[in-house]
Amino acid sequence: MILLKYDSRSVREPIIAKTAIETETLLNIIKASVGARQGEIIIEVEDAKADEVMEKLRAFGVEAVKIEGRIEKDDELCVHCGACISICPVEVFSVADDKKVVADSQKCIRCGVCVTVCPLSALSLPE
Ligand code: SF4
Ligand code: SF4
Repeated sequence: MILLKYDSRSVREPIIAKTAIETETLLNIIKASVGARQGEIIIEVEDAKADEVMEKLRAFGVEAVKIEGRIEKDDELCVHCGACISICPVEVFSVADDKKVVADSQKCIRCGVCVTVCPLSALSLPE
């Protein structure tokens, strides 16, 4: 996944569409927060095309940063209360057959909200 940061100029341009066409790559928008003067968008792209896509985005004037660290759950601390399940916007957490809460961290987009709601501080985002 790649985090895109737009400034007041780039935010007015159809940069994601132009990047998708020029790199012939499918770009999946995971999360977007865009205003008149700036914006942040997280996109998903296949690993083999990530460098090419980032190079093109930067050429269009967008700051592009790879999202590396995903959520980490400390199973020693977790009491399986489920608070993280409903708040995660991309359904990282679920209940397994044994009724325990499990995390599919590959889906994580680093929004950080689960870290703040966990009552046991069992969740963290590596720097
Ligand atoms: S909110 Fe914390 S304690 Fe509750 S299930 Fe999620 S990780 Fe476990
Ligand atoms: S940081 Fe956000 S996306 Fe990642 S697991 Fe927590 S709530 Fe879900």
